[in-house]
Amino acid sequence: MNLILFGPPAAGKGTQAKRLVAERGYVQLSTGDMLRAARAGGSELGNRVAAIMDSGSLVSDEIVIALIEEALAANPKAGGFIFDGFPRTVAQAEALDAMLTRHGTKIDRVIRLEVDSQKLIDRVAKRFAEEGRKDDNPESFKVRLKAYTDQTAPLLPYYEKQGKLIGVDGMAEVESVARAIAGTIDAR
Ligand code: ADP
Repeated sequence: MNLILFGPPAAGKGTQAKRLVAERGYVQLSTGDMLRAARAGGSELGNRVAAIMDSGSLVSDEIVIALIEEALAANPKAGGFIFDGFPRTVAQAEALDAMLTRHGTKIDRVIRLEVDSQKLIDRVAKRFAEEGRKDDNPESFKVRLKAYTDQTAPLLPYYEKQGKLIGVDGMAEVESVARAIAGTIDAR
């Protein structure tokens, strides 16, 4: 079972992905986490993406596609992958389909967390005050939301056409969202 958790920044994709890892043993592939790890490790790649990430813009397709390619190759025995924060552009989605085909597999479901963007702005303002993540500052968060609308939302028709898109209410409590996601995974 390979899933994409889809939705705007701060919709709760990471939280839900981590539960699926704990409960079902899937492997979470989060390009955001990979990029933050590269930065924390002080690698050349990490240094190259730092300013772009802090501004809220997307890093290049080439970089994130290469990260996913490496992660797929590093986990040949995974029972399933959860893609979280990837793909974010149509070019990334096309590259992902091609990579999975090469590995003899495919995306089974795209679970869209449906959220209210005004409430997201409030959620992130609170997270910024508590955790101080640089790209959660109100200016960068606006850029992230705009990147979602302009570059990522066009993926919805891409997956709709493939018959893979399933909507879940992302404003419900974490537990109910998890239950709704489990229901869509277990439904055939
Ligand atoms: P969010 O909380 O916005 O979902 P992520 O942790 O997924 O955050 O991503 C943080 C930042 O990392 C993004 O704003 C972007 O700069 C970069 N990034 C992560 N994934 C991608 C991707 N698939 N394509 C381009 N940039 C990405």
